[in-house]
Amino acid sequence: MSFSQRELFLRFLAQTSPSPLLLEIEKAEGVYLYAPNGKKYIDLISGISVSNVGHRHPKVIEAIQAQLQKYLHLMVYGEYVQSPQVLLAQKLVENLPANLDNVYFTNSGSEAVEGALKLAKRFTGRMEIISCYNAYHGSTQGALSAGGNEYFKRAYRPLLPMVKHIHYGSYSDLEQITEKTACVIIETIQGEAGVKVACSNYFQQLAVRCKEKGTLLILDEIQAGFGRTGKLWAFEHFGIVPDILVLAKGMGGGMPIGAFIAHRSIMQVFTENPVLGHITTFGGHPVSTAAAKATLEIILEENLAQQAETKAQLFLQNLKHPLIRQIRHKGLLMAVEFESFSLLKKIIDKALELGVITDWFLFCDNAMRIAPPLTISESEIQTACAFILQAIERVYH
Ligand code: PMP
Repeated sequence: MSFSQRELFLRFLAQTSPSPLLLEIEKAEGVYLYAPNGKKYIDLISGISVSNVGHRHPKVIEAIQAQLQKYLHLMVYGEYVQSPQVLLAQKLVENLPANLDNVYFTNSGSEAVEGALKLAKRFTGRMEIISCYNAYHGSTQGALSAGGNEYFKRAYRPLLPMVKHIHYGSYSDLEQITEKTACVIIETIQGEAGVKVACSNYFQQLAVRCKEKGTLLILDEIQAGFGRTGKLWAFEHFGIVPDILVLAKGMGGGMPIGAFIAHRSIMQVFTENPVLGHITTFGGHPVSTAAAKATLEIILEENLAQQAETKAQLFLQNLKHPLIRQIRHKGLLMAVEFESFSLLKKIIDKALELGVITDWFLFCDNAMRIAPPLTISESEIQTACAFILQAIERVYH
């Protein structure tokens, strides 16, 4: 008897969900995913804001193939001079404000958050971390400690001590930042909370308060970076610059990589004794860094950030229905809110049948996630919206 891929998946892979989607994909290209039976899906979630340049962008594939001819892994991060890392770090710094001039590469977003929190503690000599309610910063224990959803943290306590939470966007909460605070870590735009966007004035006051107290401001743009929100970096919307910027997801064009970026004068504490600041075997893998450099070049050359807001407007114009309560967005990071999870789930299932992939947010399960590749065309947006409206109609009647 032969077993299906689904059966083998359920048998051999550790499961993360009691009811996995079980979508089987054979190939991906541009904004499309293809099932083994040939069925084609428009991918409106990009593997959670990862495939910003589309799936298997030819230039990303080319960069990966070129690096495959040279070397894979040579040595733990930071010991050998590996040109894909050097060139990517240089390219990132050229496209960042002057104070963000030193890059530390990691494997993932969570690892980048870990590194950033450690750096802030080490640099300031302080222990207290402030983060926001409803924030998602990752699933390792440090990143989870900074996370702002008690329901998901409870089972793992005790976590890091001296972590305080403030409300994203609340001016009065800024008073909690004091001379004891090593850092404030905040998503520039809250992703898993269902796309919550604070205003420029809030961010400016936050930055001023941090500066006054000698607290480092860490912006987590793991989900909002790399053009997703209409600017290359989401902080550009708000006229502020972080002390430490944390990146991952869209960075590698589909390859695993993350980074935390700060000024040399901050980062250099990791070279002082004791030197075990943050070390990683695979962080900044040559193939991932080669892919990430190509990805950044594509975003810049194809003006993908600049197009994100115009494309978002097309979604807004099309997605009009009495069941849609509200759409929150910044560029192509969008949350389409319905009354309840049960209603949304039915719509998502119908949309999938029709050929559109969407989902919901970790901490906001009544909002549909729309975060397609930034390369999505106008006609693909029209088609995707038509399918979503059809799905809503079928559930509505
Ligand atoms: N921060 C934010 C804002 C995220 O959205 C995520 C991933 N959803 C992470 C951190 C964690 O990244 P990773 O899954 O690569 O560890």
